[in-house]
Amino acid sequence: MPALNAHLYERLQSVPEDSRRQLLQSTMLPCGKIKVAGQIYDHFSGNDYLGLSQHADVIQAAAQACNVSAGAGASRLVTGNHAHYEALEVALAHHTRHEKALVFSSGYAATIGTISALMGKGDLILADKLAHACMIDGAMLSGARLMRFRHNDVAHARAVLHKHQGQYKNALIVTEHVFSMDGDISPIDELLELKNDYDCWLMVDDAHGHGIVEYVNRSSVDIWCGTLSKALASVGGYVTGSALLIDFLLQHARSFIFSTALPPSAVAAAATSLSILEREPWRGARALTHAQHVCKALGLAAAQSAIVPIVLGSNSKALAASKALKEQHLWVSAIRPPTVPNNSARLRVTLSAAHEDDQIERLITAIKPWVAA
Ligand SMILES: *Cc1c(COP(=O)(O)O)cnc(C)c1O
Repeated sequence: MPALNAHLYERLQSVPEDSRRQLLQSTMLPCGKIKVAGQIYDHFSGNDYLGLSQHADVIQAAAQACNVSAGAGASRLVTGNHAHYEALEVALAHHTRHEKALVFSSGYAATIGTISALMGKGDLILADKLAHACMIDGAMLSGARLMRFRHNDVAHARAVLHKHQGQYKNALIVTEHVFSMDGDISPIDELLELKNDYDCWLMVDDAHGHGIVEYVNRSSVDIWCGTLSKALASVGGYVTGSALLIDFLLQHARSFIFSTALPPSAVAAAATSLSILEREPWRGARALTHAQHVCKALGLAAAQSAIVPIVLGSNSKALAASKALKEQHLWVSAIRPPTVPNNSARLRVTLSAAHEDDQIERLITAIKPWVAA
């Protein structure tokens, strides 16, 4: 057996140094502008869509909660269930039009914990081809059979369910509301029809829609989930659904049971962000308007959310574009496989209510040659 480092060195050789290797970079200021290695850039790669991460009320709520305790000290079922949770869960349930909510330590933990608690051997999980890794990981952890349907293709999902009818106990359809790397919206109304026709359950991950595009019929979706780390500018994840679902997850979701509660500051910040999101709908509207303007100026299909993908194809082209933009003090990350399908490397542009019009105009001017090329 080789020494661990020799083994790891060997395995890393399969990841070429230039185009696929992931590196960490130290950053500051997540919203509108970003500071990296002493330089300030206009920032179009974050998920702080509503510009709340530096909002005075959100920071103050976190700081106040921090005055009492920096950490929760235990899991929620032991002694970590501090009072900030209840206020946030009541607000999340109300906001998503569901009976109850449960907050987990991340969106990833919420999704893998829920899917693996609910589904098991003999069940079927049918996932959109572009569904986030957390849904796929949850499905694998559950032991259920995992099948995929072509992206947003409800007819294909129907065909898969039809073909395998009677071969499984329970079936769960999983998808995203707004797709994280493409910015398009899932046909939830049609998926509801499908799940009723085939007696399955539907789970929708709303990590990127929250506050920008709100699906009006959320209460009809069995399991609604999302993150506190993007539009809500904090950290954590949530699931909303019936009171029975939440009670079931309390008993069975292992990522909930066996993990320490979030610090009070994170929960208080998310609750404050949620109240601002509800009070100031202009924030989501502004992010969406910015995205629509960028698409129009670049001759792209109309934006459906705050996420605008500029698909360039090869890894090297996406990296070259990202580098050229950086030289103009614009920070737009290149997203490469395996995060996106092969040959669809892209610039993922995200717009925020925190962006000013002049930043957007600089972005458009700098990206234009890459779209035309
Ligand atoms: C970011 C994201 C998650 C994970 O949420 P975290 O709170 O960052 O763990 C889950 N699902 C989707 C679709 C996401 O984009």
